[in-house]
Amino acid sequence: MLASSTIELDYSALLNNLQIIRGILGPDIRFSSVVKGNAYGHGINEFIPMAEMANVDHFSVFSASEAYAVKAAGNDPQVLIMGFIDDSEVEWAVEHDVEFFVFESGRIMAAIEAAKKLGKKARIHIEFETGLNRTGFSQDQLKKVVPLIQKNLDVLEVCGDCTHYAGAESIANYVRVKSQIKRFNKMDQWLRSQGINPMMRHTACSAAAMSYPKSRMDMVRIGILQYGFWPSRETIIDYLKNKTDRVDPLKRVIKWKSTVMDVKEVTTGEFIGYGTTFMASENMKLATVPVGYSHGYSRSLSNQGRVLIGGKRLAVIGIVNMNILMVDISEAPEVKKGDEVILIGDQGDQSVSVASFSELSNLLNYELLTRLPHNIPRKVVNTEAFITKNSKNGLHNAEEKVTTA
Ligand SMILES: *Cc1c(COP(=O)(O)O)cnc(C)c1O
Repeated sequence: MLASSTIELDYSALLNNLQIIRGILGPDIRFSSVVKGNAYGHGINEFIPMAEMANVDHFSVFSASEAYAVKAAGNDPQVLIMGFIDDSEVEWAVEHDVEFFVFESGRIMAAIEAAKKLGKKARIHIEFETGLNRTGFSQDQLKKVVPLIQKNLDVLEVCGDCTHYAGAESIANYVRVKSQIKRFNKMDQWLRSQGINPMMRHTACSAAAMSYPKSRMDMVRIGILQYGFWPSRETIIDYLKNKTDRVDPLKRVIKWKSTVMDVKEVTTGEFIGYGTTFMASENMKLATVPVGYSHGYSRSLSNQGRVLIGGKRLAVIGIVNMNILMVDISEAPEVKKGDEVILIGDQGDQSVSVASFSELSNLLNYELLTRLPHNIPRKVVNTEAFITKNSKNGLHNAEEKVTTA
């Protein structure tokens, strides 16, 4: 049976975005691809092989179950768990060289125990509390756990020390972020003075990496940007302010599409859809699309969202239903059953990005993307550039492709 909508992932767009990000970072800063939330809705199973083809070799996730999914989808990549891993899962992580954040002593003890049992080092990243007040050791707590770490350096590989910023995507948080960078550096220096030398310092998400060069350190953890979306309007404005051509250089990797299921006409004064949120103020033409909030098209886009049909940007009218939304095609009377409908992505020279949604709906990019259900079929497109280049030159290293894409 056919799904009522499908998702395409554009490999050439991913190459473009990675090339831009790598260009900004330079050759010495490691790139970790953040793929929590089912790779921001793109789909772990499709995104991981695609990213590996583009030479990404480090992935960051939220939980152990996501780490498991990344390992299964990829060619044994390095994975870092930034959030949840139950103490009972630590042994699995150690056994499979999966790295994880530590921010409380119980997890460190579980790591030591698992490492001793397996005769293999646990790969930990020590998280500092620098001002987000979410997870991370405060300076006082750090003082208390340092002896435990010092005593067990034979079974603990301290791969990194790290922190996370409290809203680097908004200039309103400038002072707070700056003071977090300072505090991180102080804690890092103190830790090193205690004979514990993490291999990589990493603190930056997309917004921090773009707007605060000092936050880049040795590795960055980039999510939203690699998929072709900006963390906020402020971040792109900040990026473009010194550029001559003020054009967004990123390309959306995702395209979410459906088709017109039916068209109909409505006369002046009729209400459209459930309830009375939209009354036709003139004779109108409507298209119904078989996508609703159960498919991830947020109900808060009722009377707000925009879709593309026949290269035109058209308005969603009425309430978004569980499985159906309606589009005003009065300006595009040629639209007919079976026409392609773009819910996110490009068609012709028009584009619907989630960012433009969220300005309307107050939903963040992140939320709409990660709510895209797992069961929407996904496929990777535009891999030709890679394949032709690969077979022509007999290259086996994707690095070449990244620079020539
Ligand atoms: C989600 C997350 C990131 C990546 O954030 P983006 O804004 O998508 O780049 C980085 N670090 C941590 C700890 C995160 O939770």
